[in-house]
Formats: sequence, C-alpha cells, structure tokens
Amino acid sequence: MFGKDFQRKYALTDQGVKNVKLGTLWTVVTNLVVMFGVGILYLLMTRLTDTLTSDAPLPGTVTFLALLLVFLLLSFLTHLQQYRATYGLVYTEVRNVRIGIAERLRKLPLGWFGKRDLADLTETVMGDVNRLEHVWSHCLGYLYGSFVSTAIIAVMLLAYDWRLAVACLWGVPVAFALLFGSRAVEQRNSEAAKAAALNVSDGMQEALENIREIRATNQEERYLAGLYQKIDEHEATMIHGELVTGLFVNAASVIMRLGVATTILVGAQSILSGRIDFMLLFMFLLIITRVYAPFDQSLALIAEMFVSQVSANRLMEIYDTPAAEGAETFQPAGHDIVFENVDFSYHNEQVLYGVSFTAKEGEVTALVGPSGSGKSTCARLAARLWDVSGGSVKVGGVDVSTVDPEVLLGDYSMVFQDVVLFDDTVMENIRLGRRGATDDEVRAAAKAANCDEFVSKLPRGYDTPIGENGAKLSGGEGQRISIARALLKDAPIVLLDEATASLDVENETKVQGALSRLLRGKTVLVIAHRMRTVEAADKIVVLSDGRVEEQGSPAELLAKPGGLFRHMTELQAESAKWSVG
Ligand code: ADP
Repeated sequence: MFGKDFQRKYALTDQGVKNVKLGTLWTVVTNLVVMFGVGILYLLMTRLTDTLTSDAPLPGTVTFLALLLVFLLLSFLTHLQQYRATYGLVYTEVRNVRIGIAERLRKLPLGWFGKRDLADLTETVMGDVNRLEHVWSHCLGYLYGSFVSTAIIAVMLLAYDWRLAVACLWGVPVAFALLFGSRAVEQRNSEAAKAAALNVSDGMQEALENIREIRATNQEERYLAGLYQKIDEHEATMIHGELVTGLFVNAASVIMRLGVATTILVGAQSILSGRIDFMLLFMFLLIITRVYAPFDQSLALIAEMFVSQVSANRLMEIYDTPAAEGAETFQPAGHDIVFENVDFSYHNEQVLYGVSFTAKEGEVTALVGPSGSGKSTCARLAARLWDVSGGSVKVGGVDVSTVDPEVLLGDYSMVFQDVVLFDDTVMENIRLGRRGATDDEVRAAAKAANCDEFVSKLPRGYDTPIGENGAKLSGGEGQRISIARALLKDAPIVLLDEATASLDVENETKVQGALSRLLRGKTVLVIAHRMRTVEAADKIVVLSDGRVEEQGSPAELLAKPGGLFRHMTELQAESAKWSVG
C-alpha cells in the first residue's frame, strides 16, 4: 500500500512515507479505542435495563468507574499520538521537501532554468508544497487509518449479526466508489484551475515588467482589459471546480448517512420478528455514527487528495529531470578545451551538428559566425551549462559531463553579455568572483579592470550600493565589474562574450585594456564581434548554421580563396562597417 508508487503519487520523502504509516497506525488505534468506549456504554446500558426489567443486581460502580477511567486515559493518549503523527510531523516533511527541491535545483543543468518560467517555479516550491502539506497532514493518515479500522469493525459486526452489519455499512463502499469515479473529472478541473491561475500570475508579472512600455505607448486600457479577462476566467474555473467537488462530496456524504435509515429499518424488522433485542440495535446505531465520523473528515478532503496529484506531478517533474552530477574533483591535464563531434539540441531543435575544434591553453580562440550560428551555445557547452546530446567536450582530457558543475565552474571565468549584478555594494559585487578575497585584493582587481575611475566618482566609492541589477551603472561599467570579478577569480579558462557594440569608443578602449590583462596565459574562448579581436586571435573557428565552416589562424583563413572568413573580411573592408556577430 505504501510502496514507491504511493511515494511518487504524493511526492513524499522516505521519512514522509514513514510518517504516513505512523499516522495510519495511530488512527487505527484511536478509532478502535473509540469503539472500546462504545462497548463500555453498551455494557452499562444492558446492565441497567437488566436491573430495571428483572431483579438482577446493579453492577459495581467501582468497576465501571475504573473502566471509564482507563478508557479516558487511553483515548487521550492515542489521540495525542495520532495528532503528533499526522499534524506534528508534517512541518518537518514540508521543510524536508522544500530543501529537497532546493538541493535538486542546485544540481539541475543551469540551462534548464532558461526554459522554466520563474513564476511557475516559485509556485511549485511554495504553492504546490503547501497544497500537498494539507493532504499529508489532513488526509492520508486519517483516510488509510479509517479504512483499516472500519474493515476490522466491519468484520466484527458481520460476525455478530451480518444482516444488521450490511444494513449499517453498505453506504461506505458506495460513497467511495462514487468519489473515486469522480476522480478524472476533479483532476481535469484542477488542471484547468492551475492553468488559469498561472495565466493570471504570468499576466501580472508581464504587466509589471513592461509597465514603462505599456504606459509610454498608451496601451494601458487594452492591456488591462486582457488581464481582467484572465482574472475572470480564473474565477469562473475555480467556481466551476468547487461546484463539481461540492456535488460529489455531498452526494457521497448523503449516501453514507442513508446507512442509519437502513439500519433502523432492518433493526426494527428484526426486533419485531424477535431475532434481536432493542439493545443490539442501539449498539449498532452507536457504532455506525462512530464509523462515519472519521470518514466525514476525510471525505471533505478526498477531493483535495485527487486534486493534489497535479501538484505532486509538478514536483516530481523537477525530481525527474536528470541532474547534472559528477565527480567532486576535477584534475585535468592542462586546460585545452576540445570539442569532439558535438551535437546539441535545445529541447527538440538541433542547433549544433558535429562541431569539432580545440581551444588551446595560452591562446585566444575566437568563435565567429552570423547571429544564430551557435557561438553562444558552444560557449555554454564548454562550461557544461548544458550537456551535449552527442560527441564530447573535454578539458585537459577530462570529459566535462563527468564533473560536478559546481566543481567544474571553479576553473572558469565567464564574462557574458548580460552581466548579473546584485543589489549590493560595488565591493561585494566584485568579491563574488572569489569568496573570501580581501578588500585589497578586490581593489587591485577593480583597478586592473579599469573600474577605479568610475568608482571614485560614486558617492561612497566602493561602498556605494549599485541598485537592483546595477540600475545605477552604465552598461560598460557593469561589464568592467564583471571583468574585475573574473580577474579576481583568476581561473585558467575564460569564456568571453565580447558584445561591446553598445559601448562608446572611450569605454571600449578601457574594457579592452582590462581584458588583455585578464586573458594573459589563459585558455580563452571568445565570442568575437569585433575585427580587432578576430585579427589578434590565435585561432578562428567560423560557425555557420551550427556547423564548423572553417578554422585556422587568421592568416590561414585570409589566404583561403573562397572562404567564408575571407569573404566576410572583404565585405567589411568594403563597407568599413564590419560585423561578424
Ligand atoms: P549565436 O550565439 O551564434 O547567435 P546561439 O548559440 O545563441 O547563436 O543560438 C543558436 C541557435 O539556438 C539559434 O537558432 C537559437 O535560436 C537557438 N537557441 C539559443 N538559445 C536557446 C535556448 N535557450 N532555447 C532554445 N533555443 C535556443
């Protein structure tokens, strides 16, 4: 019952499964103890009626008081344990699951985050786990426990008087059959509600992100109308879902209650025919109310249990994504990067075909080619931000896909186009390059990256906060911070996206100076956009539509008649407005 399928179905940790078992066990014990109470009551009543109708002596008060006391004590203790096992442990489980997701996210290929929308991911970590928490605490233990205790009680009742027992209990299986029958409908509704909710949060996020453009272009009315429509749709799907759930749950509850009526009917018949006495009917009626009580609680939540599948599936999707794991040590022989026959697809769309080239240590290798030809993709694969689909990427003879990404990235500095800056001081933003670097080391790196000059103009120098994502800095300044980071890290491999097109001439020279300091003696793979870099490179790899068109030193490629690189250079000479990126 509590196997792997169960664990996946409710996205539980191993400990979580144990908790549910414990909750089930204590629910069974608690429900049986309650029945024990009913038994005492039955005994007391029969003795009393005996005393009233015949002259049998009254039972000993002390015995009954003692029994009652035992019952109360047992009842208290078992309820306490049940509470602990169902509600108490669940918060640890919530914590474990969230930490589990976080750990998992750490191990997923970095590229994966590009395709998952952030609102969606947050919703999984917070919302889905919350929804499941309710199921873990309120539903599973109660429901399974009540099934088991009801089965035990049913066997006892059947042995005692099968006719009355059937009259009493027929409603339980029928009610559950109805509910399980409704599962498909419930899940469909839940998926629709989830989609509608995501639609709303996506819409909100988009509206907030683009508020400037929306206002500037006077699109507010039109935009808001769209957003309101999404909100209305969400409301409608929610109401529809609740209505359907309410219908099924109440129908099931009513069917169960019909058991009381049938018990009275069959009981009255039996009394009239003299088969049973009134006290037995009385006991059955008492028991039946106790059998229904735990189900009542879980019935209301069973719909939630079905619906929770959607949340659990979303959690499992994160767990099922293959992690980018690998060895905790990385000891390459040198730092040559070798691409061997690399194929790569984003999702299902292949973008690299049999790419082979070597970027040697101590050299600058320039990736050149039209936009969309696969240059950035190659750079990402070199750092294992994604795993290749075919072939291999090796650094110093070690296949990067065998190394833990966190360990691997210790040997890389990346200066990419979109610099990520945090809302912190300049000092801390640069220190990200190497944790534990001293202030002096940070300043030295900043100086080498030509940051000094703009930092000295900031109101509090290196201690100036730079605003969210560096809002208070220009593009060139942000880029110099990221170069300073790389200098501080001093990693043997530098991946560089040289998109300096947006910088002015003065900035460009400064960034250039900083770069040449960074690149000395390293394995440098640069996505080249400017002629100067390309000409100074030791090697050029020309990509076109995901294939290596040609490669070699600048001189070799220029000498090659009819070559793509030569052609591009000629074009550039003609227009004096050269662009290879
Ligand atoms: P370049 O850097 O030469 O401009 P890219 O490596 O960025 O080229 O892109 C190569 C191809 O891969 C393009 O067709 C691009 O649309 C596609 N692509 C790039 N990044 C992604 C991504 N994260 N998901 C899906 N497709 C992508």
